[in-house]
Amino acid sequence: MSNILNNKKISETTFRKEVVAIFDKYNNAIPLSIVEKELKKFNRITLYRTIKVFLEKGVIHEITINGAVSNYAICKDECDTIGHHHQHIHFKCTSCGIIFCVEVDRFPSINLPKYKIEQLEIQATGFCQSCNV
Ligand SMILES: [Zn+2]
Ligand SMILES: [Zn+2]
Ligand SMILES: [Zn+2]
Repeated sequence: MSNILNNKKISETTFRKEVVAIFDKYNNAIPLSIVEKELKKFNRITLYRTIKVFLEKGVIHEITINGAVSNYAICKDECDTIGHHHQHIHFKCTSCGIIFCVEVDRFPSINLPKYKIEQLEIQATGFCQSCNV
């Protein structure tokens, strides 16, 4: 995972590595407020620029469910500068509020005649593993 910046051909800086490590630490999507809390000392403009570069280069992706504040999660190898190609579902727990990227065995493919799908996102809400007890 430490090679993610190399893999996506982004020059490594101490700050970028620090931000990637935060996303890597969480098993779920996180809002910027958590990134800021983890960083402790940071320059807001540098952070926003870093997030923008990460989104463009396929390091992280943005998830917004029902107009709530954006969450961000790390991308796997399938994403690059060409675009994001996720094969997972975004699940928001209505109890704890955490958003998870959930891998599925078979991500549905949808055929829309006359339209060209660039990204397909499936969102679900319900109870996560910890809350569903
Ligand atoms: Zn992605
Ligand atoms: Zn939950
Ligand atoms: Zn995701």
